Amino acid sequence: MTTVTLVQGDITRQHADALVNAANSSLLGGGGVDGAIHRRGGPAVLAACRALRASRYGKGLPTGQAVATTAGDLDARWVIHTVGPVWSPTEDRSHLLASCYRESLRAADGLGARTVAFPALSTGVYRWPMEDAARIAIATVRATPTTVEEARFVLFDTHAYETFARELGGPGRPG
Ligand code: ADP
Repeated sequence: MTTVTLVQGDITRQHADALVNAANSSLLGGGGVDGAIHRRGGPAVLAACRALRASRYGKGLPTGQAVATTAGDLDARWVIHTVGPVWSPTEDRSHLLASCYRESLRAADGLGARTVAFPALSTGVYRWPMEDAARIAIATVRATPTTVEEARFVLFDTHAYETFARELGGPGRPG
C-alpha cells in the first residue's frame, strides 16, 4: 500500500530514491521543474539525457511516457523524466496525464525505488488547471499497483499545496 504524502517546497531540495522531472520531450532541459532539476543535477543528468536521445529516444520522449536516469548531484538515486500533456480546453488529455504518473511508478518499480517525489505535472508552462491536475494525480497514484512505499507530492506554492491537500482529504493525512 502506497502512502501519499504532501510537502510544500522545491523538488530539487528533496531527498528520495527518485525525483520525477516534468520534462519536455527533447529531454534536454527547459524551464520550471526541468530547469531546476538540470541545474542542481548537474552535467551527469544532461549527459544521460543526451545518451537517451542518441539511442532509444531519437525523436524525444513521447507524452505520457517515463524514463529514468542518474540523479547526478541531487539527493536521490534517480531522476524519472516524464512528459506531461499540454492542457487543451477542447480535447480531453487526462489519460496522458494519468499515464505520466502510472509510467513513472512503473519505472520506479523497475529500479526498486521505495520513495518517489512528484511535482504537479503539467500545471506550470503546460497550464493544466491545478484542481483537475490534483484530482488526476492523486486518483492515479492511489489506483496504481506499485511497490513504491511513499509517493510524495512536492508542491511549489501554497495554492498548489492547498489544492492537493483538499483532494487528499486534509493536510498531511496519508492516502
Ligand atoms: P509543466 O511544463 O509540466 O507544466 P512546470 O515545470 O512548468 O511543468 O510546472 C509544473 C509545476 O511545478 C507547476 O505547478 C510549478 O509551479 C511547479 N514548480 C516549478 N518549479 C518547481 C520546483 N523547483 N519544485 C517543485 N515544483 C516546481
